[in-house]
Amino acid sequence: MAGCIFCDIVDGKIPAKLIHEDHLAVAFHDISPKAPTHLLVIPRQHLSDLDEAKPEQELLLGHLLLVAKEVAAKSELRGGYRVVINRGADGGQSVDHLHVHVLGGRPLAWPPG
Ligand code: AMP
Repeated sequence: MAGCIFCDIVDGKIPAKLIHEDHLAVAFHDISPKAPTHLLVIPRQHLSDLDEAKPEQELLLGHLLLVAKEVAAKSELRGGYRVVINRGADGGQSVDHLHVHVLGGRPLAWPPG
């Protein structure tokens, strides 16, 4: 999708510190980390947000969670971690390409602000 920074990362046009790549997904370090470890898992395919996902993309959505688990393990987040999808303005979404945050490396407060 033209003008989408995460599509540009998928296409290698914008550099990112990759931690995982496969045929469906890419994972990389967040440029502005909100925790000692802050990773983003995104589908290669452009989906603006979770609401755009269709029933036939069930496997893709499950895959993103499995990749989240794998990159958390790779990052040795033994104390635990949090997986977050922000959707829309109230959800705090700032990049319109579906992404799963993986945060860890310190105790995370609940509820979020
Ligand atoms: P959200 O606010 O849920 O849409 O999350 C978007 C995230 O993308 C934020 O945590 C940003 O810091 C992160 N981000 C934006 N641009 C980049 C980039 N070029 N490389 C890595 N992370 C980015």
